[in-house]
Amino acid sequence: MQDTRGLIFDLHCHSTVSDGLLAPEDVAARACANGVDVWALTDHDEVGGIKRAARAARELGMRFVSGVEISVTWANQTVHIVGLGLDEDEPQLVQGLAQTRAGRVRRAREMGERLAAMGMPGAYEGALPLAGNPDLISRTHFARYLVLAGYAPDVQTVFNKYLGDDCEGHVPVRWASLGDALGWIHGAGGRAVIAHPGRYKYTPVQFAGLYEEFRQRGGEGIEVVTGSHRPEQYREYAGVARHYGFLASCGSDFHGPRESRHDLGSLPPLPEGLKPVWHDWF
Ligand code: AMP
Ligand code: MN
Ligand code: MN
Ligand code: MN
Repeated sequence: MQDTRGLIFDLHCHSTVSDGLLAPEDVAARACANGVDVWALTDHDEVGGIKRAARAARELGMRFVSGVEISVTWANQTVHIVGLGLDEDEPQLVQGLAQTRAGRVRRAREMGERLAAMGMPGAYEGALPLAGNPDLISRTHFARYLVLAGYAPDVQTVFNKYLGDDCEGHVPVRWASLGDALGWIHGAGGRAVIAHPGRYKYTPVQFAGLYEEFRQRGGEGIEVVTGSHRPEQYREYAGVARHYGFLASCGSDFHGPRESRHDLGSLPPLPEGLKPVWHDWF
């Protein structure tokens, strides 16, 4: 994604510190090779990769923005809030993220039991070694294991059939509240962005409620161009950004080669007339 100065931004992606397939250094190298000028690593509920990513970016001459993608429960559904430009050592952020991660192991065991009852035994034991960070075992690791075990041809099929939000194998979690996530991000000096809004299954009234509450709590931005949106959704969420006065962000949400539809730095520019989340960064 290129801005008016020709800089390429990618402000959303994952490493092995959460559910990505590449180490932070390798994500940095790939972003740089793809021409990214300004890069943020946004692992799920974890800032453990930030210092490694920052060092790698510095060595490659790429600008780096520290980030995180926080799992939030709002109206009984999961919403992801990206924090950008934060101090990864800020104690309340660090403690809040640790709290958010804490339920994952128990949930993973339960997911294993669910999948066993559905005829796919051993998924917890199979997924655990695939998690680079056992604290951060996620549905993605289960999906990769189920592909390796031959239950589905690819990760997307696993989500469509077994692990998606409405599927039998999904064990829902009560994540952080929206207020907590925004408090941690702002307390650490960062900016908050609603990730991939096009993925949520809210009614129009609920969406309006989410945007209003997010704005009222000081939330700044929304992802308009993301690997999770189709081009017509770029236009739809550009409209939301204009309507609510949100800053616009963009990121591939890259998880790994061959697995992700969109590579680092590969997305088109933000639609005209939006104020980017990086407007006053440099
Ligand atoms: P978790 O935090 O363990 O619930 O896992 C969420 C992760 O699973 C997301 O960050 C995505 O990487 C992946 N995911 C969730 N839903 C889908 C879906 N419908 N299609 C593909 N990947 C998904
Ligand atoms: Mn993920
Ligand atoms: Mn997400
Ligand atoms: Mn993501």
